[in-house]
Amino acid sequence: RLEIRNLTRRYDGRVVVEDVSLAVQPGQVTCLLGPSGCGKSTTLRMIAGVEMQDSGEIWVDGKLICDTVFRIPPERRHIGLMFQDFALFPHLRVGENVAFGLEGDKVEKGKRVETLLARVGMQSYVDAYPHELSGGEQQRVALARALAPRPRIMLMDEPFSGLDNRLRDGIRDETLEILREQDTAVLLVTHEPEEAMRMADEIALMRGGRIVQQGAPYNIYNAPMDRDAVSFFSDIN
Ligand code: ATP
Ligand code: MG
Repeated sequence: RLEIRNLTRRYDGRVVVEDVSLAVQPGQVTCLLGPSGCGKSTTLRMIAGVEMQDSGEIWVDGKLICDTVFRIPPERRHIGLMFQDFALFPHLRVGENVAFGLEGDKVEKGKRVETLLARVGMQSYVDAYPHELSGGEQQRVALARALAPRPRIMLMDEPFSGLDNRLRDGIRDETLEILREQDTAVLLVTHEPEEAMRMADEIALMRGGRIVQQGAPYNIYNAPMDRDAVSFFSDIN
């Protein structure tokens, strides 16, 4: 379970994330939905630990992992990350990339790698090097690599936007299904209402650094809080 409390971040005195609080339950997907520049990625970077908040707290499974005085470093947070341009290790083969950081014996790891590559449709590339793959293929391997260690928490920043439309829906559904199966709490950033409506158990609508409305997709769609929220959803039908 991921919980953030009153996170605030300023750049040069300008508040870009303001008093953001939310919780994500295991096996559930919460979408952080909002227009460009509203502070979505900054929020994710603070949770990942690659950026420090000015105030507020981050909790994972009932344990404090970061506040303004105490801070567990990113590599010890066991939080999975999926970003749009999450580069693979160029000198490792596809299979080795996915196995990287996995624990357990060789056979077990091999099975896990095989299963995940099959689910993203990349099983026949296990011995290839990243430079031998297209951008979309690399993206799919990166997804498999992020899923491999079964993280308790997964942060996703528009990780499907590099994929072409034909592949995108399939890979997105498959990825979310794997995350639900392993009971991961998922925080998914998007600026597309349609994607949020489709993927989310809960939507947090963000604007100007603040969460302005939060709830089940159906509720937000049917009762947007104001005209701005209406126009944000008006593209969907
Ligand atoms: P997008 O949908 O375009 O990715 P976003 O919601 O992810 O947008 P952020 O990247 O979180 O937005 O940025 C929020 C605001 O903070 C923006 O106005 C941005 O210009 C500003 N910002 C982000 N990083 C920095 C930085 N390192 N220094 C100064 N300002 C920054
Ligand atoms: Mg962003």
